[in-house]
Formats: sequence, structure tokens, C-alpha cells
Amino acid sequence: MTAELPKVTLPGGEHVPALGQGTWHMGETRRRMAEEAAAVRLGIELGMTLIDTAEMYGSGGAEEMVARAAAGLRDELFIVSKVYPHNASRAGVVAACERSLERLRTDRIDLYLLHWRGSIPLTETLAGFEQLLRDGKIRHYGVSNFDRADMAEWVALRGGETVAANQVLYNLSRRGPEWDLLPWCRERGIAIMAYTPLGQGSLLRDRTLAEVARRRNATPAQVALAWLLRQQGTIVIPKAARLEHVRDNRGALDVVLTEDDLLALDRAFPPPKGRSSLGML
Ligand code: NDP
Repeated sequence: MTAELPKVTLPGGEHVPALGQGTWHMGETRRRMAEEAAAVRLGIELGMTLIDTAEMYGSGGAEEMVARAAAGLRDELFIVSKVYPHNASRAGVVAACERSLERLRTDRIDLYLLHWRGSIPLTETLAGFEQLLRDGKIRHYGVSNFDRADMAEWVALRGGETVAANQVLYNLSRRGPEWDLLPWCRERGIAIMAYTPLGQGSLLRDRTLAEVARRRNATPAQVALAWLLRQQGTIVIPKAARLEHVRDNRGALDVVLTEDDLLALDRAFPPPKGRSSLGML
């Protein structure tokens, strides 16, 4: 049994949890896999049923770890995976997806993303995604690390307006996408997935974040996540291999930031004053 979480609506009307789980740097060693799968499993039990992975992570090991965490619960999950740009030709996307399905031990990926833009023409990648949609191997497709110009190019492709999501680097200290990318996506109902929401832990040492956390009787991680979660159409995917971190992150949904908190955070982490190139990890 899982608790209900707030939802984000994808183009097409499907609702997915606004708070999910990342898996980068998981599945890299066999030794730690059981521990990592237990953490992801706990997250699933707490309702964080959207899981973000990629063929890149642990060279396929993260997808195998997800399969372990998901055992017996596949129908409750929304699994996101990603194809490498160098695999993103029409035939390459299909072959990469089949390899991912095997590692994930499932018959479909719920959302399949182009990990970042490479040199293969976008029309090729889209044709591969369309083939996978027709065959029922993926349920939605999207992109990642696309700036506004890339997005405009994608939606101008024949069939490109069906893109479901753009996954980008977005957190308190990386607010660049607020300038034009986020409004552009929101206007079109394209979901934003905020990756590295905790700045890989580095954000959590900030003094203002600690101060707001103290006032809310919360942790800095919860404040960083709550700040993202209050924004419409944004899916947030922290990665946590430790059980206490998983529980802590789930608790972010109970944190309500006040106007004063938001002003203090704006002073410490100012919103963008102009366009900047999209950050990427
Ligand atoms: P995060 O910002 O999620 O930070 C993860 C780090 O924070 C880990 O060291 C983790 O520790 C720690 N942490 C997690 N929860 C807490 C907590 N409550 N308190 C204190 N520390 C905590 O970094 P990621 O870069 O992993 O981003 C999240 C996900 O986004 C990735 O895992 C991946 O799925 C996706 N991503 C996508 C990219 C793309 O190009 N599309 C690029 C980068 C990320 P521990 O693990 O020990 O619990």
C-alpha cells in the first residue's frame, strides 16, 4: 500500500507523482546493489513511485537495481529511463530501449528520454520513439538537457509536439531555467523534471537554507525539495541511497514555505536577471 502524493499532469492527461527518486551513481558495484534497492524500495512504499534511471547509470547497473527494487510492484511504478545520444538513431533508439527493458525486467518504460542532444538528427530519434510508442515498449517520450531553442526545434518536427517532458538541472542554486525555459514548457503543458534538486548535497550546507529549515522544523534537504515542489508542473527526483535520506525526502511534502521563507531564499539564491546557457552535469 502506498500513500498518495501530489501529482503532475503530463500532456495527454496522465497524472504522475511530483516527487520521485533518482538513481545516478547507483548500481555501480554489485556489493552495494542490495542496499540501494532497499532504499528505492522504501521510497516506493512511501509513495515515491516515479523512478528515474538511464542506460548510462552504472553502465546498465542502475536499471538492474531498479528491477530489484520494483520486484512485484511494476504496475504501481512510473519508470523513466534515458537513451545515450550516440544510440539515438532511429534503429539505435529501438535497440537501446530493448536492452533497457531487459535490464529493467519489464515490458514497457513509462517515459523514455533522449539524455542530451548529440549529433544524430532529432528526426531520427523521434522516429525511433514513435516506433517504440507504436510497439507499446514506451508509453511517453521526452528529452533532457534541452534549452529553449532545442525545445522549439523539437516541437517544430512533425509529431514533435507530443513531447511529454524535459529533464533539466534545476535547483535553488541553478535557477537559470526560470528565465524562459520553464515558462515556455509550462505554456505548452510539457512537464519539467528537476534533476540534482539537492545540488548533489552541496546545497545543504547553505546558511539561509539551514535558517529556513530551522524555522520550519525541517531539514535543509526538505526545504530545497519543498521549494521546487511548490511549482506547478515540476517533477522532482532526489537520489538517496540511505534509508534516512529517503524518509527525510518524503517528509518534504509536509513542509509549507511562507512568503518570508521564499523572500529569504530569493535573497540568498537570486532568480535570473537574463538568459544564460542551460547548465548540465
Ligand atoms: P541530488 O541533488 O539528488 O543529490 C544526491 C545526494 O544528496 C546524494 O549524495 C545523497 O546521499 C544526498 N541526499 C539525498 N537526500 C538527502 C537528505 N535528505 N539529506 C542529506 N543528503 C541527502 O543529486 P543527483 O545528481 O543524483 O540528482 C538526482 C537525480 O537526477 C539523479 O540521481 C538522476 O536520476 C537525475 N539526473 C539526471 C541528469 C540528466 O542529465 N538528465 C543529470 C544528473 C542527475 P545518499 O545517496 O548517500 O543518500
